[in-house]
Amino acid sequence: MSTPADTQRMEKIVSLCKRRGFIFQSSEIYGGLNGLWDYGPLGVELKRNVKNYWWRVMVHERDDVVGLDGSILMNRAVWKASGHEDTFTDPMIDCRSCKARLRADQLTEKKGAKQCPVCGGKDLTEPRAFNLMFKTFVGATEDESNVTYLRPETAQAIFVQFKNVLEVSRKKLPFGIAQIGKAFRNEINPRNFTFRSREFEQMELEYFCRPEEGMALLDYWKEERLKFYQNIGLARDRLHVMTVSDEERAFYSKGTYDIEYDFPFGRQELEGVAYRTDYDLSQHQKASGKSLEYFDEETKQRFIPHVVEPSAGVDRTVLALICDAYTEDEAPDEKGKMETRTVLRFHPRVAPVKCGVFPLLKNNAELVARAKAIVDLLRPQMFVFYDESGAIGRRYRRQDEIGTPFCVTVDFETLGEKDRQLADTVTLRERDSMKQERVKISELRELIAARIA
Ligand code: ATP
Repeated sequence: MSTPADTQRMEKIVSLCKRRGFIFQSSEIYGGLNGLWDYGPLGVELKRNVKNYWWRVMVHERDDVVGLDGSILMNRAVWKASGHEDTFTDPMIDCRSCKARLRADQLTEKKGAKQCPVCGGKDLTEPRAFNLMFKTFVGATEDESNVTYLRPETAQAIFVQFKNVLEVSRKKLPFGIAQIGKAFRNEINPRNFTFRSREFEQMELEYFCRPEEGMALLDYWKEERLKFYQNIGLARDRLHVMTVSDEERAFYSKGTYDIEYDFPFGRQELEGVAYRTDYDLSQHQKASGKSLEYFDEETKQRFIPHVVEPSAGVDRTVLALICDAYTEDEAPDEKGKMETRTVLRFHPRVAPVKCGVFPLLKNNAELVARAKAIVDLLRPQMFVFYDESGAIGRRYRRQDEIGTPFCVTVDFETLGEKDRQLADTVTLRERDSMKQERVKISELRELIAARIA
């Protein structure tokens, strides 16, 4: 349950996201569109860093995974075979009193009676199945033969390209195909900021294996994925693993874990790790009439591989990172008086801006030139922000608020005016501890690069 303090914290986070350019409402000047969001200049950096790190650990740092970038629109037959056309539904209920449209599992209960969570009304319709896929037409005629859907998950492109990828990559089981891309779901009730959106991005791995390896790989991937979230800075004690019960699990799955995170609005799913058996490939083999079997050269057996799927949401991960990083502490202002400081304590690996670079004074050509040279020095390896306006303390605060882990200040000591020993050194200031150290310019790039890797 969220407390008033949690609600207030969430409001501050949403407001910071807009004020500093992380996340805006989509089509805002026209009143927005429910469940749709745009990532601003800082949000897009954060999101890219998350996706790049996922790609790095899931594809580049492994010998057993290759990538794919499938199309969003696919032949409608894909969605028939996968079961989405018939069963990708949520039970929808209408409140006759306030006209709210609700998902059946969002109802509240009082003394055994189901209630509308918006108005408390008990006059509710029976649940009806509502298909979450966005329907569209391919080609000029809007008739049934041209219908398809915006993909509601990225996974199906991987299943239907399984044979092509297997042939070109020449991988042996177990191996995986990874993909990052947009997915669309016409959610009945989008809410909690970007948590439940109608357009979002997924990072999915389909890890194909022999049937007897499935259960062990399910546990292996659950642990790998937990490590991932810790490695991008989420606190371990806010991460939880929920074993999905037999009743709630998809009928074809032999085991599913949800990795959950304690958001200010409650504990909610970040990622599902599911052992999906051979369900998907079997369905597509049956429907397409094309073999999706694997031939084991050693045993000379042919069979449909099983699959374990860690399926994560980019937007939910980004939201968890922002919520986890948001901190208010105390720091002295220019005159030494304590004031509240808002800091996003992002792990340097995901922080949108890695380093702020400041000349002490903007009207000193030499300081400005040295600071700009440092920007050029760092830029090939990291995203840098140059700022010359306002007092240094203010500039630090602005970077703290967007989570920049390091700031470099060029001062008169850099020019060697006070102490020859300090020539060609700068102040490197760390965001969380606010500690400052004197560092040689020649060592700066490697020092920061090692900390953001
Ligand atoms: P939920 O139960 O929250 O609707 P789900 O179990 O249907 O999620 P999956 O189909 O397992 O979700 O999708 C995998 C991941 O995709 C989720 O763990 C989540 O991170 C992300 N995801 C799914 N739906 C949404 C959405 N509407 N908005 C943002 N991310 C989503």
